[in-house]
Amino acid sequence: MKISVIGTGYVGTVSGACFAELGHNVICVDVDKTKIDQINAGIPPIYEEGLSELLKKHSAHRISATSDYDFAVMNSDVSFICVGTPSDHEGNIDLGIVRAASASLGDALKKKKGYHVIVVKSTVVPETTEKVVLPIIEKHSGKRAGEFGIAMNPEFLREGKAVHDFMHPDKIVVGSLDKRSGDIVASLYSGLPCEITRTNPRTAEMIKYVNNSFLATKISFSNEVGNICKELGIDTYEVMKAVGKDFRIGTHFLNSGAGFGGSCFPKDVKALIGKAQEIGYEPQLLKSVIAVNEKQPSRMVKLLKDRLGSIKGKKITVLGLAFKNDTDDIRESRSIQVIKELLDNGSKVLAYDPMANENMKKLFGNVEYHDSAVDALSGADACLLMTEWEEFRQLDKEFQVMKKRLVIDGRHMLTPGKDIEYVGLCW
Ligand code: NAD
Repeated sequence: MKISVIGTGYVGTVSGACFAELGHNVICVDVDKTKIDQINAGIPPIYEEGLSELLKKHSAHRISATSDYDFAVMNSDVSFICVGTPSDHEGNIDLGIVRAASASLGDALKKKKGYHVIVVKSTVVPETTEKVVLPIIEKHSGKRAGEFGIAMNPEFLREGKAVHDFMHPDKIVVGSLDKRSGDIVASLYSGLPCEITRTNPRTAEMIKYVNNSFLATKISFSNEVGNICKELGIDTYEVMKAVGKDFRIGTHFLNSGAGFGGSCFPKDVKALIGKAQEIGYEPQLLKSVIAVNEKQPSRMVKLLKDRLGSIKGKKITVLGLAFKNDTDDIRESRSIQVIKELLDNGSKVLAYDPMANENMKKLFGNVEYHDSAVDALSGADACLLMTEWEEFRQLDKEFQVMKKRLVIDGRHMLTPGKDIEYVGLCW
């Protein structure tokens, strides 16, 4: 089938490349000319394992990119809206980009004769597809739902493993207003061995929020337990390992540490809080999930101050800047809050990340960035480990170059030797 993908960020580029791998022809649309040029040259605009190979394989024949909505709609049967849905200044969802993309799609649809399905893949709060996207498309196209198709198909990929997750999904959800649109969207995934959950758009939208909010809740719950365990001298990892053996709980997402970041969990939990409040419900549990998460990075700095006293003028190494391993994405990374607090306290910050140095430089110009952990550790008074990069697990003798060998681990990664003062965040 012929697909157009609107917005070529993480979700759009990965979905486009994977749909091409499934045999579909894909036109990517973006307002960013650099990204269009990169995709047409077979270069991914973001780092994702396996993405470069897929783009190289398909960019000459099955994938192209353009900024021309008319061309994309005219030459495809289905358009996926994959643009960003950031938080506004109050934490609620900002649908400005979804509105703009819907208007452009509607304008293009007006000029098209045949049937076309518009699918919302961006994460949007319940009712958005029906009450925001659909009316905009109807207004701009001059057509009514039914003359064109409308569906909601949330994306569950994990950054760092996005290509793998798209090609090996544990669930595919298709919410549609009518059977015809839903059948078309479902058929796009027929090459994947996964049961498809068919529902209406608002349920599909809710499934995505509940999925992310539940995972975020597990993390904040584990962090709260970890904070209590730390005070009691109990190893929370031993506790959670046993607790996770209960089949009703499961073993995943029980690791306590510096908290969750990224472009999804914080923003999605806040958006669900905003939606609940809009309809008059006070979501106390979800608000606590965010509150616990926001305190974890400060606990890292507190542990540091407990050991060093004043940290003014002290050289502090931050290892790990990306919000998680295997990505260069720093959005809502816990390192940002830690670096900010260190700088506010007058510390000199040295940093290293295998992939995210360049992105963090755009945020903090006054940090000394290094190309290896050992370089960043040289002469430091302490080290804070913030991201679970596999290469950090092996660190040991590298700590010898520090002035004072104090290491605070926010990710339960390290087993350093005896001459290191090792402090776990929650253990
Ligand atoms: P992103 O910011 O990386 O990419 C969005 C892209 O849209 C950018 O390339 C931008 O230039 C482009 N864009 C902006 N305005 C446009 C317009 N009017 N027309 C065409 N393109 C336009 O975003 P992302 O991380 O890919 O997320 C997209 C959506 O998917 C969000 O709703 C997000 O919550 C959701 N999601 C993200 C992930 C993830 O891991 N990143 C996972 C699942 C779902």
